[in-house]
Amino acid sequence: MGARDGGRLRWRSQNSHGMIRIENLKKNYRTIEALKGVNLQVGEGEIFAYLGPNGSGKTTTIKILTGLASPSSGDAYLSGYHILRQTLDAKRQCGLVPQTINLDHELTVYENLNIHGKLFHMRRRERLSRIDELLEYVDIKERRDSPVKQLSGGMKRRVMVARALMHAPRILFLDEPTVGLDPTIRRKIWSLVKKIQQSGSTIFLTTHYIEEAEFLADRVAFLEAGRIVALDAPQAMMGRLGAWAMDEIVNGEMETTYFKGREEANRHVALQKGSFALRRVNLEDVFLSVTGKKVQP
Ligand code: ATP
Repeated sequence: MGARDGGRLRWRSQNSHGMIRIENLKKNYRTIEALKGVNLQVGEGEIFAYLGPNGSGKTTTIKILTGLASPSSGDAYLSGYHILRQTLDAKRQCGLVPQTINLDHELTVYENLNIHGKLFHMRRRERLSRIDELLEYVDIKERRDSPVKQLSGGMKRRVMVARALMHAPRILFLDEPTVGLDPTIRRKIWSLVKKIQQSGSTIFLTTHYIEEAEFLADRVAFLEAGRIVALDAPQAMMGRLGAWAMDEIVNGEMETTYFKGREEANRHVALQKGSFALRRVNLEDVFLSVTGKKVQP
């Protein structure tokens, strides 16, 4: 049920377990164990980033949650609805922006959104007003009647976001929403994601751009080979590592040393003979420390 909160429409989840709840989720593709028992909960209105190297199981998780793949075992709930036992209700709770652009390129922006509305049994009047509202929202109103094939990559992404929001889902899944976009357009998408959160939605995001997660996410989970290896707020994770980092090449390998404060870092730096770079700790450092891997874009 919707409830007014400071003039904004907010949604109360069906029970106290949060908007997304995943319990011991496993997925095998023949001999590949893509998910080895994932547990997590995402609270209402959170932006949750799900990070990990290629093949760690991010897309598999999203596919299972959005009904595009079935789990081998385990349970998952969207706003309290079980994804297998209450499939239709669970599907209504979520919108998906997949990794690859899957709009119909021959159809116009309007037609793409209209088809989605029909699939969700929205009435014609409701569809029309929602399309106008959303195209304004994602700032692409002037391209309403353009064929999708004439749009830039950034515009297509925004149309995908609008399409995912057509049926007013409470949870939005974004699988690599800014891949291949230039920094200006990427920031435009970030603003849009924040705006969607402010309207009361819960957002589950995967990305290889760690700075994207650092900027957007309230909490982050790092996934490695089908298991969550760390989960917390970005600032808390970075704070445990330190505040400053010094990178240097030692025997042909990059080595990073972490320091709690600037003074400690300065003392260490004063003793350095070779070249080095001193910088602030970032979320990529956390990823490296928990998985020992570099994220490949
Ligand atoms: P990326 O960052 O490259 O998108 P990911 O973290 O999203 O990777 P998944 O796509 O979930 O990873 O893949 C997890 C594992 O499952 C990989 O080993 C992958 O090869 C395997 N996998 C995914 N989909 C299938 C499939 N349809 N059939 C067989 N194996 C699959």
